[in-house]
Amino acid sequence: MKALVKQHAEPGLWLTDVPEPETGPGDVLIKVLRTGICGTDLHIRKWDGWARQAVSTPLVLGHEFVGEVAAVGAAVTDIAVGDLVSGEGHLVCGKCRNCLAGRRHLCRSTLGLGVGRDGAFAEYVALPASNVWVHRTKVDLDVAAIFDPFGNAVHTALSFPLVGEDVLITGAGPIGIMAAAVARHAGARNVVITDVSEERLELARKVGATLALDVSRSGLDEAQRQLELREGFDIGLEMSGRPEALRDMVANMTHGGRIAMLGLPAEEFPVDWSKIVTSMITIKGIYGREMYETWYAMTVLLEGGLDLTPVITGSYAYHDFEAAFDEAATARSGKIILDWTA
Ligand SMILES: [Zn+2]
Ligand SMILES: [Zn+2]
Repeated sequence: MKALVKQHAEPGLWLTDVPEPETGPGDVLIKVLRTGICGTDLHIRKWDGWARQAVSTPLVLGHEFVGEVAAVGAAVTDIAVGDLVSGEGHLVCGKCRNCLAGRRHLCRSTLGLGVGRDGAFAEYVALPASNVWVHRTKVDLDVAAIFDPFGNAVHTALSFPLVGEDVLITGAGPIGIMAAAVARHAGARNVVITDVSEERLELARKVGATLALDVSRSGLDEAQRQLELREGFDIGLEMSGRPEALRDMVANMTHGGRIAMLGLPAEEFPVDWSKIVTSMITIKGIYGREMYETWYAMTVLLEGGLDLTPVITGSYAYHDFEAAFDEAATARSGKIILDWTA
């Protein structure tokens, strides 16, 4: 079968033929229809410091996908050939304290699809049945392809109750934009999102952000004045991993404010901890999705009318992957889709 492979330990990706994945009695074989390109995939293509230590070659990339079940193992009872499915890209051990307690997203031995094992940028992908999410209601195929990052957005946005709250999101990448849509849909009063890309800020406006702010031009104090906030933001969603964004956020939170942090900083950086102490701020790290509370929430949010289609800004046939990756790497686009049936 065709697959997008990190063939050699150097920059680039290779479209090549690889054997179809093997499946055991508890596995599901999925014919991949569409996939989403993630920042993770861009790092692996570029072969930066993170990729060099996280990936061993050869590796089939990709963890964001939708597909159709092609075969199920003998022990799989509740998933059928022909079902439309997406996959949870974190494979957990099932044996550690957190797994046994039902907190699988906190597993210490998580293996990443398309990072620690072969992924979904291929004509077929195999997953344990416990990682397969069946779409039982009608869903747009492009949206179904990005359930994995949509789950990051939902997990982060719904980390703290936000009905009537003023929410600040730093970083208007696809996950930040989706988090803005979720926060508005879930009843936040104001959703302010910051970035330095006008194109991405415009996408955030399309999904309902109250104010999308170019922080290279004006500051959050100005945003607070404009929205007549007197005591700062109640909830912060940090999506950029950038030191100046977190510092800015901490400086603009209300006393007792709560911050959910998904953006992954590239290295250590100083933070004004005295401000965090005296403002009594809670910070929660977010990684992945809750299995499967987040997936349930994603499905019902879409059923309830949440519209993510503005986030998807490009679609390419899989053999045009170079152009698709180039567009995704501009940091001006929304989500880019690869079509594996074209
Ligand atoms: Zn991703
Ligand atoms: Zn575990």
